[in-house]
Amino acid sequence: MTKRFCPHCEDDKNVVERKVSIPVGAESFSTRTLVCKECGHYALTSEIRREMDEWGRSLTKNIIEPQPIFSEAAHRFAEEMAARHGIKRVPLFRVLTAFYLNRVVNRDDFQELKKFCESHASRKLLEEGTRSKVSVPIRYLMYRKLQTFSEVWKVPHAKAIEEAVLFGLTVLSCKGENFDRLKTIAESLQQYIADVAQAA
Ligand SMILES: [Zn+2]
Repeated sequence: MTKRFCPHCEDDKNVVERKVSIPVGAESFSTRTLVCKECGHYALTSEIRREMDEWGRSLTKNIIEPQPIFSEAAHRFAEEMAARHGIKRVPLFRVLTAFYLNRVVNRDDFQELKKFCESHASRKLLEEGTRSKVSVPIRYLMYRKLQTFSEVWKVPHAKAIEEAVLFGLTVLSCKGENFDRLKTIAESLQQYIADVAQAA
């Protein structure tokens, strides 16, 4: 249990147990905790986080639906890659995003990989043609990861997905030419997509 004390008001006389609603994407999670009546402060305790995770995992609806924008070439290549694995384009966008957030951004050489991909010739090709939006529905667990990434790098969710997808598509199209580390990533990405496609 949290201390009955408000660090903002530096006082304990207005702290009472009451219901709070915590926004999570387009949804909101409600629970009872100690809240300061004066300023509304409450602590996001590990207990609340745990309850929120439990609630989020059981949610069957999407928490957010960002709309990243991709060029015609990127859409076409994604369609082709998705078809090869027997999935649709939007689920592939989700898989590429999950791979990026789970396996790429935490690497020590992340910045180097990112720079290499951004300047690669295949990336240029993926930027050709008219750009159009696509809706990518996101469930709770991926939302949490995306949210963390968005906060750290200060980019909106849609931009984070664009970055992740373009990284994945570049890796898939260049297959790590002249860069062994990227070749290994391309192979593990292929496997990652195959695993998800099989589970779908
Ligand atoms: Zn207060």
